[in-house]
Formats: sequence, C-alpha cells, structure tokens
Amino acid sequence: MAYSNKAKEFYGTELTGIKNNGLLKEERFIKSPQRANIKVEYPVGSETKEVLNFCANNYLGLSSHPEVIAAAHKGLDERGFGLSSVRFICGTQDIHDELEKKLSEFLKMEDTILFPSCMEANAALFDVTLDKEDAMISDRLVHASIVDGMRLCKAQLFNYKHSNMEHLEEKLQETQSCRFRMIITDGVFSMDGDIAKLDKICDLADKYDAIVMVDDSHSTGFMGKNGRGTHEHCGVMDRVDVITTTLGKAMGGATGGCVSGPKEIVGMCRQRARPYLFSNTVPPAIVAASIKIIDMISKNNERRDKLEANALYFREEIKKRGLDIKEGTHPIVPVMLYNAKLAQNMAKDLYAEGIYVIGFFFPVVAQGQARIRVQISADHEREHLDKAINAFAKVGEKYKILGKKKDEIIAMYGL
Ligand SMILES: *Cc1c(COP(=O)(O)O)cnc(C)c1O
Repeated sequence: MAYSNKAKEFYGTELTGIKNNGLLKEERFIKSPQRANIKVEYPVGSETKEVLNFCANNYLGLSSHPEVIAAAHKGLDERGFGLSSVRFICGTQDIHDELEKKLSEFLKMEDTILFPSCMEANAALFDVTLDKEDAMISDRLVHASIVDGMRLCKAQLFNYKHSNMEHLEEKLQETQSCRFRMIITDGVFSMDGDIAKLDKICDLADKYDAIVMVDDSHSTGFMGKNGRGTHEHCGVMDRVDVITTTLGKAMGGATGGCVSGPKEIVGMCRQRARPYLFSNTVPPAIVAASIKIIDMISKNNERRDKLEANALYFREEIKKRGLDIKEGTHPIVPVMLYNAKLAQNMAKDLYAEGIYVIGFFFPVVAQGQARIRVQISADHEREHLDKAINAFAKVGEKYKILGKKKDEIIAMYGL
C-alpha cells in the first residue's frame, strides 16, 4: 500500500481549505421521485420534509411521469437490465437505432448517434472532427463539458466574449487560413438562462465558411414552438450544422446524450469517438422511455406550452413583488442577490418556507454575481408558483431587498 501519510495529509488539507473558503458542496437526500413536491432530508441527519422543488432540470415534468415509468418498465422486461457491451461489439439493440432515428426526426437533423451522456458527446465531437490545422471558436461561457471536450482535441483554440458577435467576427477573420473552423456555443446558457444569438452566428458562419455547433442541453424538448430547441426558437433550423444534447434534463432526466448532424460527422463518431467505442451502451429501460418521451412531446405541445406559461407567470409576478431578476423568457430565472452570503441565507430561509432552491456564487458564477437560480417546470401548478412567489416576497422583505436594484443591494450587503 502506498497511500502515504504525505498524500493523505495533502488531500485532507485541500478539503479543509475548500470547506474553510465556504465552497464545500454538500449533498441533500431526496427520498421521493423527482417531481414538483419532493421529500428532502437536509441537512443529512435531520427530519425529512416535504418541499416544492424549484431547482431541477425537470423542465417538462417527465422525470417521474407514469407513462415514462411504464415505458421504462416495459423496456426492462422486454430487453433486460444491461447489455454488458459497448455498441459496436454486441451492445446495439433495434431500439437504439429507433431512438437515434426519432431524435434525428425530432431535431430535424440528418443523423444521430447516442452517447452515455452529453458530456461524452462533447468529449467525442471535436476530437473526431477537427485536427491541428483547424480552429475551435467558442463562446467564453460554454458549459464545462465543452471546455473538457475541446481539451481533448488538437485543433487551435479561440474564444469570443459572451454572445459578442463583433468579437466572434474578429476571431473568424483571424482564423481564415485554417482548414475547418467550428463555432461552438451553448443554445441556452445555464446560469443566466440567456439564449445564444443563433441567427447572427449562422450569418457569420455563412460569411466566413464555418461549421456551427450548438449544445442544446437546456433547450431540447421545449425551446421553439414545437420544442425542438434553440435552432427552432431562433428560426435557424436548417442552418445549425451539429447539435449535441442531453436526455438528462427535459427529456426524462435519466441519462444519455447525442450528437446530431450531417451523416458524415455522425459516421465519423461511430468509427472514431472514444466514449462511443470504449464506454458501455445506454441501457434498454432508458432507451425505451426516451422513445416514449419523443412520441409524447411530438404528439402535442401541451407540456412545453404549460412550461412557457409557467415561466412567464413566475417572471412577471416575482418582478411585481420587487425582486431583481435577469430578464428573459427561459424557465431558468436567476434572482439576483450579488452577495454570496445573502444568496445562501435566503436559500436557507426559503427552504424553511418549503421552497427548495439553491444559492449560486463564485466560482459557479462570476464574483459579485451571486444569485438564487429558480427553475420552473411544467410539473408546477399555479398554486406551487404562487407559494414560491409569496415565499420570495416574505424572505425578500426580511432582508429588505424588495424594490431594490443592483447598486442598492450591493450597498447594503457588499459583494
Ligand atoms: C447539463 C449539460 C451537459 C451535461 O449533460 P449530461 O448528459 O448530464 O452529461 C452538457 N452540456 C450542457 C450545456 C449542459 O447544460
């Protein structure tokens, strides 16, 4: 055994440092299925409490939908628990192919390849399609999984200021001599809920001959009139080249991801993507449930319409009560508090009021941008939303921040 005291002490000191800086991530136990009202043990060891959940990515309320659970059961019964293989050896069932075809049809892309997660889709895509003589030009606020995916690729790395089209254009000009250039962005950015300017990005891509790649994890299933994603929302459905997305958010929330795009790019992933070749296949229960979900949301737009109405209602009402939110339309609603301690304290008080939300602060968001990120779901009923709005108003009153703008809140609490 070579786990020495030196190593033990080193890691122990690191962990103590994280804790002393107030950055320790603690888990809370949920003791019910994922849904609008959940049973939570928090802190661990305390009594279990029923609260309303406003911090899941369960946008369409499908995580525990009876039809989805039934489909998963059926998949489990008919196709087994696991395949004990990667896809290309003996891990592909007909339902994997069916799901890939359904995803292509839903996203309106030519072809699709499943991955165990979107993180792995992002780990695959760049490495497989780009090389030293190419350029990756990414928004500065792309998701961590894209950052890691780009690290695995030998192409030259460029980035542009968040959603700044002039800066993107500069980078496109700088990289004219490269063989291929890929513009890389999230469709919706997870901390602010703001939407990439895909129409402008596609214009620039046309002008400078670049490939457009969008990670639509926070959009697939509900953004756009038919829920296809930000490419539908922005009116550029035939102009985005490659989409990566997750099945782990609106699409049932279990696990799984994909690369969807031209058949050559998907084909290259099937031949060369390491997370596809060397990691296990998505289990049948999840595949069967995902097929069901695409059928459900393709049949009618009820859930995404309800989500849209819920988000709009919550945004309007919370503003009327005097809380400071980031403007937008997405079901991610950042309630801005600027000060980390204030965000933590308010989240704790909201929990006492039966509203489960989490304070976000540095390093998850920029210094001085602390907030509570509220996430709205189609599972929320009006009474749930009203309860949360009232709780925010009550707790906001306690901290005397109602009607206060950024500068006033910062003057009271500091950064
Ligand atoms: C959540 C998220 C991911 C990770 O998805 P997984 O399927 O859980 O790996 C990737 N990209 C973005 C933009 C996300 O929001």
